[in-house]
Amino acid sequence: MTSDSDRPVRTRYAPSPTGPQHIGGIRTALFAWLFARRHGGQFILRIEDTDQKRTIPGSIEMILDAFDWLGMDIDEGPREGGAYGPYVQSERLELYQTWAKWLVENGYAYKCFATAEELAEMRKQVGGYDRRYRDIPTAESDDLEARGLPYVIRFKMPATGVTIGEDIIRGEVEFANDQLQDAVLLKSDGFPTYHLAHIVDDHYMRISHITRAVEWLPSFPLHIQIWNALGWEKPQFAHMPVFLNPNGKGKLSKRNAQFTDADGKSVPVLVHEFIEAGYLPAAVMNFLSNIGWNFGDNEEIFSTAQAIERFDLKDVNPANSAYPIAKLDWLNSQYIQRADVDELSQLLQPILEAAGYTVDEARLQRVVPLLQVRLKSTHDVVPMAGFFFADWSSFEAPPAEILIQRKMDGDGTAEILRGALLVLQALDSFKHDAQYAAMSKFAKAIGYKNGQVFGSLRAAVSGQKVSPPTFETMEILGKDESLRRIKLALQALIGQTD
Ligand code: GLU
Repeated sequence: MTSDSDRPVRTRYAPSPTGPQHIGGIRTALFAWLFARRHGGQFILRIEDTDQKRTIPGSIEMILDAFDWLGMDIDEGPREGGAYGPYVQSERLELYQTWAKWLVENGYAYKCFATAEELAEMRKQVGGYDRRYRDIPTAESDDLEARGLPYVIRFKMPATGVTIGEDIIRGEVEFANDQLQDAVLLKSDGFPTYHLAHIVDDHYMRISHITRAVEWLPSFPLHIQIWNALGWEKPQFAHMPVFLNPNGKGKLSKRNAQFTDADGKSVPVLVHEFIEAGYLPAAVMNFLSNIGWNFGDNEEIFSTAQAIERFDLKDVNPANSAYPIAKLDWLNSQYIQRADVDELSQLLQPILEAAGYTVDEARLQRVVPLLQVRLKSTHDVVPMAGFFFADWSSFEAPPAEILIQRKMDGDGTAEILRGALLVLQALDSFKHDAQYAAMSKFAKAIGYKNGQVFGSLRAAVSGQKVSPPTFETMEILGKDESLRRIKLALQALIGQTD
Protein backbone atom coordinates (compact mmCIF):
# COMPACT_ATOMS: atom_id res chain seq x y z
CA MET A 1 0.00 0.00 0.00
CA THR A 2 1.20 3.49 -0.62
CA SER A 3 2.19 5.33 2.44
CA ASP A 4 5.06 7.66 2.56
CA SER A 5 6.92 7.30 5.81
CA ASP A 6 8.76 10.56 5.12
CA ARG A 7 5.58 12.56 5.66
CA PRO A 8 5.70 14.93 8.61
CA VAL A 9 4.21 13.12 11.55
CA ARG A 10 0.67 14.24 12.36
CA THR A 11 -1.43 12.00 14.56
CA ARG A 12 -4.88 12.51 15.94
CA TYR A 13 -7.39 11.43 18.53
CA ALA A 14 -10.89 11.41 17.12
CA PRO A 15 -13.39 10.71 19.88
CA SER A 16 -17.12 10.84 19.52
CA PRO A 17 -18.53 13.25 22.10
CA THR A 18 -20.52 10.66 23.97
CA GLY A 19 -19.80 11.63 27.56
CA PRO A 20 -17.03 11.01 30.06
CA GLN A 21 -13.70 9.86 28.71
CA HIS A 22 -12.94 6.16 28.96
CA ILE A 23 -9.39 5.34 29.94
CA GLY A 24 -8.99 2.93 27.01
CA GLY A 25 -9.66 5.76 24.56
CA ILE A 26 -7.22 7.96 26.39
CA ARG A 27 -4.53 5.27 26.16
CA THR A 28 -5.06 5.16 22.38
CA ALA A 29 -4.74 8.94 22.38
CA LEU A 30 -1.63 8.72 24.54
CA PHE A 31 0.13 6.44 22.06
CA ALA A 32 -0.74 8.80 19.20
CA TRP A 33 0.49 11.72 21.30
CA LEU A 34 3.75 10.03 22.34
CA PHE A 35 4.44 9.17 18.72
CA ALA A 36 3.84 12.75 17.58
CA ARG A 37 6.05 14.11 20.33
CA ARG A 38 8.78 11.58 19.62
CA HIS A 39 8.94 12.78 16.03
CA GLY A 40 8.48 16.46 16.67
CA GLY A 41 5.13 16.23 14.88
CA GLN A 42 1.65 17.49 15.61
CA PHE A 43 -1.14 15.99 17.62
CA ILE A 44 -4.66 16.87 16.61
CA LEU A 45 -7.96 16.52 18.44
CA ARG A 46 -10.95 16.02 16.19
CA ILE A 47 -14.48 15.65 17.42
CA GLU A 48 -16.50 13.04 15.53
CA ASP A 49 -20.06 14.09 16.18
CA THR A 50 -21.79 12.82 13.08
CA ASP A 51 -23.99 10.51 15.11
CA GLN A 52 -26.01 13.31 16.58
CA LYS A 53 -28.27 10.99 18.58
CA ARG A 54 -25.29 9.84 20.64
CA THR A 55 -23.85 13.30 21.20
CA ILE A 56 -23.87 14.41 24.81
CA PRO A 57 -23.51 18.14 25.54
CA GLY A 58 -20.43 18.99 27.59
CA SER A 59 -18.39 16.09 26.19
CA ILE A 60 -15.78 18.29 24.51
CA GLU A 61 -15.08 19.99 27.83
CA MET A 62 -14.70 16.57 29.49
CA ILE A 63 -12.25 15.48 26.78
CA LEU A 64 -10.22 18.67 27.12
CA ASP A 65 -10.22 18.38 30.92
CA ALA A 66 -8.82 14.86 30.61
CA PHE A 67 -6.00 16.03 28.33
CA ASP A 68 -5.23 19.05 30.50
CA TRP A 69 -5.16 16.96 33.66
CA LEU A 70 -2.78 14.44 32.13
CA GLY A 71 -0.62 17.16 30.62
CA MET A 72 -1.07 16.02 27.01
CA ASP A 73 -0.90 19.17 24.97
CA ILE A 74 -2.90 19.46 21.78
CA ASP A 75 -1.53 21.26 18.75
CA GLU A 76 -4.72 21.63 16.77
CA GLY A 77 -8.31 21.14 17.78
CA PRO A 78 -11.62 22.83 18.53
CA ARG A 79 -10.09 24.87 21.35
CA GLU A 80 -6.64 25.40 19.87
CA GLY A 81 -7.75 26.11 16.31
CA GLY A 82 -5.31 25.38 13.49
CA ALA A 83 -4.80 25.57 9.77
CA TYR A 84 -6.95 22.53 8.93
CA GLY A 85 -10.11 23.25 10.88
CA PRO A 86 -12.86 23.25 11.76
CA TYR A 87 -12.04 20.30 14.02
CA VAL A 88 -15.63 19.29 14.70
CA GLN A 89 -17.20 17.10 12.05
CA SER A 90 -20.68 18.59 12.19
CA GLU A 91 -19.08 21.82 10.97
CA ARG A 92 -17.60 20.11 7.91
CA LEU A 93 -20.72 18.54 6.39
CA GLU A 94 -20.37 20.18 2.99
CA LEU A 95 -16.95 18.66 2.50
CA TYR A 96 -18.24 15.14 3.10
CA GLN A 97 -21.22 15.75 0.83
CA THR A 98 -18.93 16.97 -1.92
CA TRP A 99 -16.80 13.84 -1.78
CA ALA A 100 -19.78 11.51 -1.48
CA LYS A 101 -21.15 13.09 -4.64
CA TRP A 102 -17.78 12.78 -6.33
CA LEU A 103 -17.66 9.07 -5.50
CA VAL A 104 -21.13 8.58 -7.02
CA GLU A 105 -20.24 10.54 -10.13
CA ASN A 106 -17.09 8.54 -10.60
CA GLY A 107 -18.76 5.16 -10.21
CA TYR A 108 -17.42 4.26 -6.76
CA ALA A 109 -20.64 4.78 -4.89
CA TYR A 110 -24.36 4.88 -5.53
CA LYS A 111 -27.62 6.16 -4.20
CA CYS A 112 -29.64 3.56 -2.35
CA PHE A 113 -33.34 4.16 -1.89
CA ALA A 114 -34.10 1.11 0.24
CA THR A 115 -36.64 1.84 2.96
CA ALA A 116 -36.30 0.73 6.54
CA GLU A 117 -38.87 -2.03 5.89
CA GLU A 118 -37.01 -3.23 2.83
CA LEU A 119 -33.78 -3.34 4.81
CA ALA A 120 -35.36 -5.26 7.65
CA GLU A 121 -36.70 -7.78 5.16
CA MET A 122 -33.28 -8.16 3.49
CA ARG A 123 -31.64 -8.69 6.85
CA LYS A 124 -34.07 -11.50 7.47
CA GLN A 125 -33.60 -13.07 4.02
CA VAL A 126 -29.87 -12.64 3.35
CA GLY A 127 -28.48 -11.32 6.60
CA GLY A 128 -27.70 -7.86 5.25
CA TYR A 129 -28.08 -5.48 2.35
CA ASP A 130 -28.44 -7.28 -0.99
CA ARG A 131 -27.00 -4.46 -3.14
CA ARG A 132 -30.29 -4.05 -5.03
CA TYR A 133 -29.66 -0.40 -5.96
CA ARG A 134 -25.99 -0.88 -6.82
CA ASP A 135 -26.49 -1.33 -10.54
CA ILE A 136 -29.72 0.42 -11.36
CA PRO A 137 -29.47 2.75 -14.38
CA THR A 138 -28.58 6.37 -13.60
CA ALA A 139 -31.85 7.52 -15.18
CA GLU A 140 -33.82 5.37 -12.74
CA SER A 141 -31.83 6.63 -9.79
CA ASP A 142 -32.29 10.24 -10.94
CA ASP A 143 -35.99 9.63 -11.31
CA LEU A 144 -36.36 8.24 -7.76
CA GLU A 145 -34.43 11.22 -6.46
CA ALA A 146 -36.56 13.67 -8.44
CA ARG A 147 -39.63 12.12 -6.85
CA GLY A 148 -38.22 13.15 -3.51
CA LEU A 149 -37.48 9.67 -2.17
CA PRO A 150 -34.94 9.70 0.62
CA TYR A 151 -31.68 7.90 -0.08
CA VAL A 152 -28.31 7.09 1.37
CA ILE A 153 -25.03 6.89 -0.51
CA ARG A 154 -23.35 3.51 -0.37
CA PHE A 155 -19.85 2.50 -1.33
CA LYS A 156 -19.43 -0.09 -4.10
CA MET A 157 -17.25 -2.58 -2.30
CA PRO A 158 -15.46 -4.94 -4.72
CA ALA A 159 -17.45 -8.18 -4.52
CA THR A 160 -14.52 -10.50 -5.16
CA GLY A 161 -10.82 -10.72 -4.43
CA VAL A 162 -8.98 -9.67 -1.35
CA THR A 163 -7.90 -6.43 0.24
CA ILE A 164 -4.57 -6.33 1.96
CA GLY A 165 -3.87 -3.84 4.66
CA GLU A 166 -0.59 -2.94 6.28
CA ASP A 167 -0.75 -2.35 9.99
CA ILE A 168 2.23 -1.06 11.93
CA ILE A 169 1.46 -3.25 14.93
CA ARG A 170 0.00 -6.31 13.22
CA GLY A 171 1.86 -6.44 9.94
CA GLU A 172 0.01 -7.44 6.80
CA VAL A 173 -3.66 -8.29 7.22
CA GLU A 174 -5.70 -9.86 4.46
CA PHE A 175 -9.46 -9.66 4.07
CA ALA A 176 -11.81 -11.40 1.64
CA ASN A 177 -13.85 -8.71 -0.11
CA ASP A 178 -17.01 -10.80 -0.24
CA GLN A 179 -17.24 -10.55 3.52
CA LEU A 180 -17.93 -6.84 3.29
CA GLN A 181 -21.10 -4.94 2.67
CA ASP A 182 -21.68 -1.84 0.61
CA ALA A 183 -21.33 0.44 3.57
CA VAL A 184 -23.29 3.65 3.91
CA LEU A 185 -21.10 6.71 3.41
CA LEU A 186 -23.71 9.44 3.61
CA LYS A 187 -27.00 9.14 5.45
CA SER A 188 -30.32 10.47 4.19
CA ASP A 189 -30.07 13.46 6.53
CA GLY A 190 -26.87 14.56 4.78
CA PHE A 191 -24.61 13.45 7.64
CA PRO A 192 -21.69 11.22 6.76
CA THR A 193 -20.89 7.97 8.53
CA TYR A 194 -17.57 7.40 10.26
CA HIS A 195 -16.30 5.51 7.19
CA LEU A 196 -16.43 8.52 4.92
CA ALA A 197 -15.93 11.32 7.42
CA HIS A 198 -12.72 10.12 9.00
CA ILE A 199 -11.09 9.49 5.63
CA VAL A 200 -11.98 12.91 4.28
CA ASP A 201 -10.73 14.50 7.50
CA ASP A 202 -7.58 12.45 7.82
CA HIS A 203 -6.75 13.42 4.25
CA TYR A 204 -7.52 17.12 4.64
CA MET A 205 -5.87 17.29 8.05
CA ARG A 206 -2.76 15.61 6.61
CA ILE A 207 -2.75 12.86 9.17
CA SER A 208 0.30 10.65 8.70
CA HIS A 209 -0.65 7.86 11.13
CA ILE A 210 -4.13 6.68 12.04
CA THR A 211 -4.12 5.11 15.49
CA ARG A 212 -7.42 3.68 16.60
CA ALA A 213 -8.91 0.83 18.56
CA VAL A 214 -8.68 -2.66 17.12
CA GLU A 215 -12.48 -2.73 16.88
CA TRP A 216 -11.99 -0.86 13.62
CA LEU A 217 -9.88 -3.60 12.08
CA PRO A 218 -12.85 -5.37 10.37
CA SER A 219 -13.66 -2.09 8.57
CA PHE A 220 -10.04 -1.59 7.56
CA PRO A 221 -10.47 -3.17 4.06
CA LEU A 222 -13.49 -0.97 3.41
CA HIS A 223 -11.44 2.08 4.34
CA ILE A 224 -8.54 1.01 2.14
CA GLN A 225 -10.93 0.68 -0.78
CA ILE A 226 -12.39 4.13 -0.11
CA TRP A 227 -8.91 5.66 0.09
CA ASN A 228 -8.04 3.97 -3.20
CA ALA A 229 -11.23 5.20 -4.84
CA LEU A 230 -10.52 8.74 -3.76
CA GLY A 231 -6.98 8.38 -5.04
CA TRP A 232 -5.45 9.94 -1.95
CA GLU A 233 -2.18 8.97 -0.38
CA LYS A 234 -2.96 6.75 2.56
CA PRO A 235 -1.63 7.38 6.01
CA GLN A 236 -0.12 4.50 7.98
CA PHE A 237 -2.38 2.55 10.31
CA ALA A 238 -1.97 1.18 13.80
CA HIS A 239 -4.89 -0.72 15.31
CA MET A 240 -4.46 -0.56 19.05
CA PRO A 241 -5.13 -3.37 21.48
CA VAL A 242 -7.90 -2.68 23.97
CA PHE A 243 -8.16 -3.16 27.72
CA LEU A 244 -9.90 -6.20 29.12
CA ASN A 245 -11.49 -6.41 32.55
CA PRO A 246 -9.02 -7.00 35.38
CA ASN A 247 -9.86 -10.71 35.30
CA GLY A 248 -8.94 -10.83 31.61
CA LYS A 249 -12.52 -11.51 30.54
CA GLY A 250 -14.39 -9.18 28.25
CA LYS A 251 -13.62 -5.69 27.15
CA LEU A 252 -13.33 -3.06 29.86
CA SER A 253 -16.39 -1.00 29.13
CA LYS A 254 -17.96 2.03 30.71
CA ARG A 255 -20.75 -0.14 31.97
CA ASN A 256 -18.18 -2.14 33.89
CA ALA A 257 -17.12 0.92 35.82
CA GLN A 258 -18.24 -0.86 38.95
CA PHE A 259 -15.94 -3.81 38.41
CA THR A 260 -14.06 -4.27 41.66
CA ASP A 261 -10.48 -5.22 42.37
CA ALA A 262 -9.32 -7.92 44.79
CA ASP A 263 -10.05 -5.63 47.75
CA GLY A 264 -13.57 -4.95 46.56
CA LYS A 265 -12.58 -1.42 45.59
CA SER A 266 -14.32 -0.20 42.47
CA VAL A 267 -11.96 0.13 39.56
CA PRO A 268 -11.60 3.56 37.97
CA VAL A 269 -12.37 3.50 34.26
CA LEU A 270 -13.40 7.04 33.42
CA VAL A 271 -10.83 9.80 33.61
CA HIS A 272 -12.76 11.79 36.19
CA GLU A 273 -12.76 8.70 38.43
CA PHE A 274 -8.95 8.79 38.47
CA ILE A 275 -9.05 12.45 39.40
CA GLU A 276 -11.60 11.84 42.13
CA ALA A 277 -9.69 8.84 43.48
CA GLY A 278 -6.70 11.07 44.14
CA TYR A 279 -4.20 9.70 41.65
CA LEU A 280 -1.37 11.88 40.43
CA PRO A 281 -1.56 12.59 36.71
CA ALA A 282 2.09 11.62 36.27
CA ALA A 283 1.38 8.24 37.86
CA VAL A 284 -1.61 7.70 35.57
CA MET A 285 0.48 8.62 32.52
CA ASN A 286 3.14 6.12 33.58
CA PHE A 287 0.48 3.48 34.25
CA LEU A 288 -1.18 3.94 30.85
CA SER A 289 2.07 4.02 28.87
CA ASN A 290 2.94 0.69 30.38
CA ILE A 291 -0.14 -1.14 29.13
CA GLY A 292 0.48 -2.61 25.70
CA TRP A 293 3.89 -1.00 25.49
CA ASN A 294 6.84 -1.09 27.81
CA PHE A 295 9.79 1.08 28.41
CA GLY A 296 12.28 -1.78 28.46
CA ASP A 297 15.12 -2.55 30.87
CA ASN A 298 12.49 -3.96 33.24
CA GLU A 299 11.81 -0.40 34.23
CA GLU A 300 8.30 0.16 35.60
CA ILE A 301 8.77 3.78 36.56
CA PHE A 302 9.56 6.26 33.85
CA SER A 303 8.55 9.79 33.08
CA THR A 304 6.54 10.94 30.12
CA ALA A 305 9.66 12.64 28.77
CA GLN A 306 11.53 9.34 28.92
CA ALA A 307 8.63 7.53 27.25
CA ILE A 308 8.70 10.08 24.44
CA GLU A 309 12.35 9.32 23.79
CA ARG A 310 11.68 5.62 23.28
CA PHE A 311 8.12 5.25 22.11
CA ASP A 312 7.44 3.61 18.79
CA LEU A 313 4.11 2.43 17.41
CA LYS A 314 5.72 -0.69 16.03
CA ASP A 315 6.62 -1.80 19.55
CA VAL A 316 3.00 -1.81 20.71
CA ASN A 317 1.90 -5.30 21.68
CA PRO A 318 -1.05 -6.37 19.50
CA ALA A 319 -2.60 -8.50 22.26
CA ASN A 320 -5.39 -7.06 24.36
CA SER A 321 -4.36 -6.92 27.98
CA ALA A 322 -6.15 -7.31 31.28
CA TYR A 323 -6.41 -3.97 33.02
CA PRO A 324 -3.55 -4.05 35.56
CA ILE A 325 -5.24 -1.74 38.00
CA ALA A 326 -3.40 -3.14 41.02
CA LYS A 327 -0.25 -1.54 39.71
CA LEU A 328 -1.71 1.90 39.84
CA ASP A 329 -1.80 2.22 43.65
CA TRP A 330 1.81 1.16 43.86
CA LEU A 331 2.87 3.54 41.09
CA ASN A 332 0.90 6.33 42.67
CA SER A 333 2.63 5.94 46.02
CA GLN A 334 5.98 5.95 44.22
CA TYR A 335 5.06 9.19 42.51
CA ILE A 336 3.87 10.74 45.74
CA GLN A 337 7.22 9.91 47.32
CA ARG A 338 9.10 11.45 44.46
CA ALA A 339 6.91 14.51 43.90
CA ASP A 340 8.30 17.84 44.97
CA VAL A 341 6.75 19.55 47.95
CA ASP A 342 5.20 22.39 45.96
CA GLU A 343 3.59 20.08 43.44
CA LEU A 344 2.19 17.81 46.10
CA SER A 345 1.02 20.72 48.23
CA GLN A 346 -0.92 22.06 45.28
CA LEU A 347 -2.64 18.72 44.82
CA LEU A 348 -3.39 18.24 48.49
CA GLN A 349 -4.65 21.70 49.33
CA PRO A 350 -7.95 21.46 47.42
CA ILE A 351 -8.56 17.99 48.86
CA LEU A 352 -8.17 19.30 52.40
CA GLU A 353 -10.31 22.30 51.60
CA ALA A 354 -13.01 20.11 50.13
CA ALA A 355 -13.01 18.20 53.43
CA GLY A 356 -13.73 21.46 55.22
CA TYR A 357 -10.27 22.46 56.45
CA THR A 358 -8.78 25.92 56.14
CA VAL A 359 -5.31 25.37 54.82
CA ASP A 360 -2.39 27.47 55.94
CA GLU A 361 0.01 27.07 53.02
CA ALA A 362 3.20 27.46 55.03
CA ARG A 363 2.04 24.77 57.43
CA LEU A 364 1.08 22.50 54.55
CA GLN A 365 4.60 22.85 53.14
CA ARG A 366 5.96 21.59 56.46
CA VAL A 367 3.48 18.73 56.68
CA VAL A 368 3.90 17.44 53.12
CA PRO A 369 7.41 15.96 53.49
CA LEU A 370 6.11 13.93 56.42
CA LEU A 371 3.34 12.50 54.30
CA GLN A 372 5.21 11.51 51.20
CA VAL A 373 6.16 8.00 52.29
CA ARG A 374 2.79 7.45 53.91
CA LEU A 375 0.17 8.36 51.34
CA LYS A 376 -1.11 5.77 48.91
CA SER A 377 -3.55 8.19 47.45
CA THR A 378 -3.73 11.95 47.76
CA HIS A 379 -7.08 11.53 49.52
CA ASP A 380 -5.35 9.81 52.43
CA VAL A 381 -4.19 13.29 53.44
CA VAL A 382 -7.54 13.92 55.09
CA PRO A 383 -7.52 11.12 57.71
CA MET A 384 -3.76 11.30 58.04
CA ALA A 385 -3.13 15.00 58.39
CA GLY A 386 -6.41 16.89 58.43
CA PHE A 387 -5.93 17.54 62.17
CA PHE A 388 -3.08 19.96 61.41
CA PHE A 389 -5.59 22.23 59.70
CA ALA A 390 -8.52 21.91 62.10
CA ASP A 391 -9.27 24.70 64.57
CA TRP A 392 -6.67 23.99 67.26
CA SER A 393 -8.59 25.77 69.97
CA SER A 394 -11.39 23.24 69.75
CA PHE A 395 -9.12 20.20 69.87
CA GLU A 396 -10.47 17.56 72.21
CA ALA A 397 -8.57 14.69 73.76
CA PRO A 398 -9.24 11.40 72.02
CA PRO A 399 -11.13 8.62 73.81
CA ALA A 400 -9.25 6.11 75.93
CA GLU A 401 -9.31 3.40 73.26
CA ILE A 402 -7.21 5.59 71.00
CA LEU A 403 -5.02 6.94 73.75
CA ILE A 404 -4.15 3.62 75.36
CA GLN A 405 -1.68 1.65 73.27
CA ARG A 406 -1.64 -2.10 72.80
CA LYS A 407 -0.51 -4.00 75.85
CA MET A 408 -0.89 -0.88 77.99
CA ASP A 409 -3.45 0.33 80.49
CA GLY A 410 -4.75 3.69 81.66
CA ASP A 411 -2.36 4.00 84.56
CA GLY A 412 0.69 3.26 82.49
CA THR A 413 -0.41 5.68 79.81
CA ALA A 414 -1.01 8.37 82.41
CA GLU A 415 2.43 7.72 83.83
CA ILE A 416 3.97 8.18 80.39
CA LEU A 417 2.06 11.37 79.66
CA ARG A 418 2.83 12.87 83.04
CA GLY A 419 6.53 12.15 82.67
CA ALA A 420 6.61 13.29 79.07
CA LEU A 421 5.12 16.61 80.07
CA LEU A 422 7.99 17.25 82.46
CA VAL A 423 10.68 16.12 80.05
CA LEU A 424 9.33 18.04 77.08
CA GLN A 425 8.66 21.11 79.15
CA ALA A 426 12.33 21.21 80.11
CA LEU A 427 13.60 21.10 76.51
CA ASP A 428 15.31 24.18 75.12
CA SER A 429 14.89 23.06 71.56
CA PHE A 430 11.59 21.60 70.44
CA LYS A 431 13.12 20.22 67.24
CA HIS A 432 12.00 16.65 66.61
CA ASP A 433 15.44 15.14 67.06
CA ALA A 434 15.85 16.83 70.44
CA GLN A 435 12.44 15.50 71.47
CA TYR A 436 13.35 12.07 70.21
CA ALA A 437 16.59 11.92 72.16
CA ALA A 438 14.92 13.08 75.36
CA MET A 439 11.93 10.78 75.04
CA SER A 440 14.00 7.70 74.22
CA LYS A 441 16.03 8.34 77.33
CA PHE A 442 12.86 8.80 79.30
CA ALA A 443 11.35 5.56 77.97
CA LYS A 444 14.39 3.62 79.01
CA ALA A 445 14.41 5.22 82.43
CA ILE A 446 10.81 4.29 83.21
CA GLY A 447 11.03 0.89 81.56
CA TYR A 448 8.69 1.28 78.59
CA LYS A 449 9.36 0.60 74.96
CA ASN A 450 9.87 3.54 72.64
CA GLY A 451 6.81 2.45 70.69
CA GLN A 452 4.62 2.62 73.78
CA VAL A 453 5.83 6.07 74.73
CA PHE A 454 5.82 7.53 71.25
CA GLY A 455 2.44 5.95 70.44
CA SER A 456 0.84 7.42 73.55
CA LEU A 457 2.16 10.85 72.63
CA ARG A 458 1.06 10.50 69.03
CA ALA A 459 -2.48 9.71 70.10
CA ALA A 460 -2.45 12.53 72.64
CA VAL A 461 -1.33 15.25 70.22
CA SER A 462 -2.96 14.12 66.98
CA GLY A 463 -6.08 12.58 68.45
CA GLN A 464 -5.62 9.57 66.18
CA LYS A 465 -3.88 6.24 65.92
CA VAL A 466 -2.20 6.97 62.63
CA SER A 467 -0.42 10.21 61.91
CA PRO A 468 2.90 11.46 60.61
CA PRO A 469 5.81 10.73 62.98
CA THR A 470 5.13 11.89 66.51
CA PHE A 471 7.98 14.28 67.09
CA GLU A 472 7.79 15.91 63.68
CA THR A 473 4.09 16.35 64.34
CA MET A 474 4.77 17.98 67.71
CA GLU A 475 7.40 20.22 66.18
CA ILE A 476 4.83 21.53 63.72
CA LEU A 477 2.18 21.91 66.43
CA GLY A 478 4.75 23.78 68.54
CA LYS A 479 5.68 23.31 72.17
CA ASP A 480 2.75 25.14 73.76
CA GLU A 481 0.12 23.40 71.70
CA SER A 482 1.74 19.99 72.10
CA LEU A 483 1.98 20.32 75.87
CA ARG A 484 -1.56 21.63 76.05
CA ARG A 485 -2.78 18.57 74.18
CA ILE A 486 -0.82 16.17 76.36
CA LYS A 487 -2.41 17.78 79.41
CA LEU A 488 -5.85 17.43 77.86
CA ALA A 489 -5.19 13.76 77.27
CA LEU A 490 -4.01 13.29 80.79
CA GLN A 491 -7.10 14.99 82.15
CA ALA A 492 -9.32 12.87 79.98
CA LEU A 493 -7.57 9.77 81.18
CA ILE A 494 -7.57 10.34 84.90
CA GLY A 495 -9.92 13.25 85.34
CA GLN A 496 -7.01 15.09 86.82
CA THR A 497 -6.65 18.87 86.54
CA ASP A 498 -3.45 20.72 87.09
N1 GLU B 1 -14.88 8.33 16.39
C1 GLU B 1 -14.22 7.07 16.30
C2 GLU B 1 -14.33 6.36 17.64
O1 GLU B 1 -14.59 7.03 18.62
C3 GLU B 1 -12.79 7.31 15.96
C4 GLU B 1 -12.00 6.16 15.52
C5 GLU B 1 -10.74 6.70 14.90
O2 GLU B 1 -9.87 7.11 15.66
O3 GLU B 1 -10.63 6.76 13.70
O4 GLU B 1 -14.19 5.16 17.71
